[in-house]
Amino acid sequence: MDILGVRIDEVDMDAALDKAKEFLASNKCNTIFTPNPEFIINAEKDKEFKKILNSSSLNIPDGNGIVWASKQLKKPLNERVAGYDFIHKLFDYGKDNNVSFYFLGARPGVAEKAKDEMVKKYPGLNVIGTCDGYFSRDDEQKIWDDICELKPDVLLVALGSPKQEKFIDKYKGKLISKIAIGVGGCLDVMA
Ligand code: UDP
Repeated sequence: MDILGVRIDEVDMDAALDKAKEFLASNKCNTIFTPNPEFIINAEKDKEFKKILNSSSLNIPDGNGIVWASKQLKKPLNERVAGYDFIHKLFDYGKDNNVSFYFLGARPGVAEKAKDEMVKKYPGLNVIGTCDGYFSRDDEQKIWDDICELKPDVLLVALGSPKQEKFIDKYKGKLISKIAIGVGGCLDVMA
């Protein structure tokens, strides 16, 4: 559905997870974004951001405001699919299905701590790399080269919005990953 010019996919949690499984079996980089009302308002002012959101592989309805808007449009969504809960579902699936993850973003030490906590919570979870989100322009290319060499199946990018969506869009053509997902403050919460 279209909410003020931003495409929102009409998925509940199960359908979103099925889509992610499809992406994991594909041989291209699929992007997943988690629009909430702030995204929609920002996209009104930032046309590049709007274009990036609309070019994603999946936009999950993250936010009660999105569900509210869907009701106003007489296309009621079943439920909010919170990005944080969705990532946990991905970890749960990933730990049993040989899926590798990379955590990029948040303050120094946070991604590493998030990795430790998630491996404790999901034994067998394969997090093959982490990097904080406060890198210089000069370091950006090196970080990217490292990620490309590691080839994680799923890249979590936590740089805040719209920075993370623009970052993913800039590099998705070069990425070997099956899924790149913008996760906002999720690494902080996990840590
Ligand atoms: N962040 C980062 N690099 C930056 C700016 C932000 O790694 O240059 C991180 C920040 O430390 C936090 C996350 O991005 O972990 C953004 O969290 P926030 O809750 O603001 O994001 P939202 O979920 O609102 O998009």
